[in-house]
Amino acid sequence: MQTKKDLKSMTMEELGETVKALGEPGYRAKQLYEWIHKKLADRPEEMTNLPKGFWDKLKEDYRIISLEAVEILTSKIDGTKKFLFRLPDGNIIESVWMKYRHGNSVCISSQVGCRMGCAFCASTIDGMERNLLPGEMLDQVYQIQKLTGERVSHVVVMGSGEPLDNYENLLRFLSILTDEQGLCISQRNLTVSTCGLVPKIRELAKERLSLTLALSLHAPNDEKRKSIMPIAKTYSLDEILSACDEYFEKTGRRITYEYSLIQGVNDSSQDAKELSALLKGRKAHINLIPINPVKERSFSQSKQKNISDFKIELEKHGINVTVRREMGRDIDGACGQLRRRYLSIRKNL
Ligand code: SAH
Repeated sequence: MQTKKDLKSMTMEELGETVKALGEPGYRAKQLYEWIHKKLADRPEEMTNLPKGFWDKLKEDYRIISLEAVEILTSKIDGTKKFLFRLPDGNIIESVWMKYRHGNSVCISSQVGCRMGCAFCASTIDGMERNLLPGEMLDQVYQIQKLTGERVSHVVVMGSGEPLDNYENLLRFLSILTDEQGLCISQRNLTVSTCGLVPKIRELAKERLSLTLALSLHAPNDEKRKSIMPIAKTYSLDEILSACDEYFEKTGRRITYEYSLIQGVNDSSQDAKELSALLKGRKAHINLIPINPVKERSFSQSKQKNISDFKIELEKHGINVTVRREMGRDIDGACGQLRRRYLSIRKNL
């Protein structure tokens, strides 16, 4: 087992204490932090102003986590890139890079696998293996910026895993990612997506960060939600929506409600009417996602006509709606699909 602490996961303050404890001058912490989070260096040899003696002391108990890209797929349709990364312990995760007019966005994973059990999602099929460290979340962004050679301006925590189920590491990740001494990505350009862990939504609201909270709704009532999302058995829509209201009150950031449309499950005009009633009067934005069919699951995408009717019904009630453009359709779209394919090919070798 790897017991050395990861330097990439440490805040500037923690690095300061570490450096002090080793009897080194305080400015070494700043140098190290800049190498890791601004110049995106992985190896001590790259960090030319840090003396060898300093590393000799550090390497006893510390390491720098770095992810290795084992596969990169590029969509011929829209240039979207999917990355499969190998973690130091051999686990595989996936991340996505998308090019938009407003900048480049990276979608990162927050856990290896997921334990939330949503019926339509590929990430959760084998359950959760472990939480990702802050350094492992950061390095998805860092490696992608280095491999594409283009600045990342937006980050969405919408890959595999439930970010609020890895709360402490998520907060640390967010704080380092937005730090002026690091990549300095604006809080406004960050989105965290959750299936609705109510106590954690309330905790996050208290942080008063300017990031967008995306809530995976996917059903207009508790009964239907329970049939596709096990978390709905723990928290009712009433509780979730009131936690989201608190998030909006405390941060001033409008919630994005994600709604994946599944044919014959949650895409009827009755569903649209119920959803409108549920969100009426709330500062909300609904993002309709045509479901990405997953091989192991029997759900199919709603028909185009249903999607547009659903959108029109919501708009009739003054709700702000967008339909998510499908990116990288030709390269294993849905969360966790690429990783599953990779792992199953390896298993059969
Ligand atoms: N655990 C978090 C974030 C990960 S998934 C969450 O639940 O929000 C990001 C979004 O993709 C969620 O809204 C999730 O429900 C949705 N999703 C998962 N699998 C999907 C699929 N096959 N098709 C469409 N959306 C999917």
